[in-house]
Amino acid sequence: MAAISRAIRSCAAASRRSMAASSKEVPADVARAAAAAAARRGRERDREGGRRVQWVFLGCPGVGKGTYASRLSRMLRVPHIATGDLVRDALASPGPFSKQLAEIVNHGKLVSDEVIINLLSKRLEEGEEKGELGFILDGFPRTIRQAEILEGVTDIDLVINLKLREEALLAKCLGRRMCSQCGGNFNVASIDIEGENGGPRMYMPPLLPPPQCESKLITRPDDTEEVVKERLRVYHDLSEPVEEFYRARGKLLEFNLPGGLPESWPKLLQALNLEDPGKERSAAV
Ligand SMILES: [Zn+2]
Repeated sequence: MAAISRAIRSCAAASRRSMAASSKEVPADVARAAAAAAARRGRERDREGGRRVQWVFLGCPGVGKGTYASRLSRMLRVPHIATGDLVRDALASPGPFSKQLAEIVNHGKLVSDEVIINLLSKRLEEGEEKGELGFILDGFPRTIRQAEILEGVTDIDLVINLKLREEALLAKCLGRRMCSQCGGNFNVASIDIEGENGGPRMYMPPLLPPPQCESKLITRPDDTEEVVKERLRVYHDLSEPVEEFYRARGKLLEFNLPGGLPESWPKLLQALNLEDPGKERSAAV
């Protein structure tokens, strides 16, 4: 996947150059970089003897993408690459770069395409060194430009768009807590809302921490109501064209979360035509 990360970088650079020249035409150097990447990728794939899934998860911040993506990645034996984690890791490393990032993130703004692409490229290179054969991306692509760059350099098999009702989403975001000691993620929101148009009631129980974490819970600075609402607004503005991009290519799978994880997980697997191997094992025992 070094080929992918190299191509992502060169396409991003080419697309920056071409955007300065013209904002409409598909530039020849982007097309060349994409074709070269495809050829390299084919050779690498032959050497590796096939690959696993290359999926993308879309969905509002707080919808639970990370939970579903990480479960699926364990099941399908591919890494779950969350750009949010890449950004948080970068924030935690010392230096002026992390200070600039903090300014952006704490105001609910999105990190630029260039920064995200660089972080992702670095991550894919590291993965390739470890022999990774696929990925589930979470939080990328976030803009139409990122989607174009990604589509030019690799075959994304499927894009899963997770959706959750707005009121549940807001409550979930505001209920997020992290343990300041072990880094565990929890949610104190207990969601119980009437069904829409006679539909089923939506119930999502809180995900409470174990006793040793209870007194160490913190709210992330970007989880205030004002910042969450701004984040959702920015997300919708940017993501609609990204959804449309994949819909037009027949790659978009829309999935409305019916509730919490126990309800949603089997239905998601069903929608993906997957069997839960954990379930088979426990049935066999
Ligand atoms: Zn803890």
